[in-house]
Amino acid sequence: MTMGATQEPLTCQQLVELVTDYFEDALTPAERDRFDAHLAVCPGCEHYLEQMRITMRLVHDADGLEERPEVAALLEMFRDYKRL
Ligand SMILES: [Zn+2]
Repeated sequence: MTMGATQEPLTCQQLVELVTDYFEDALTPAERDRFDAHLAVCPGCEHYLEQMRITMRLVHDADGLEERPEVAALLEMFRDYKRL
């Protein structure tokens, strides 16, 4: 990405691609602005992000939860979503 990046809105696909960085707080301020701007106008992504947040918190709070088949399947589903 070039410096002085455009302020084109993110697409849903781009948002999904940035979601991991978002949770790791690894977005640049410009990316973060565009991420938040997209969420403000896209209920679908806002819902997706909320589901993701809940899942991440559950996995984070419970040791070994990630090893459980149903949780692993859920995480796999999120990864698949990213490739759609
Ligand atoms: Zn969206």
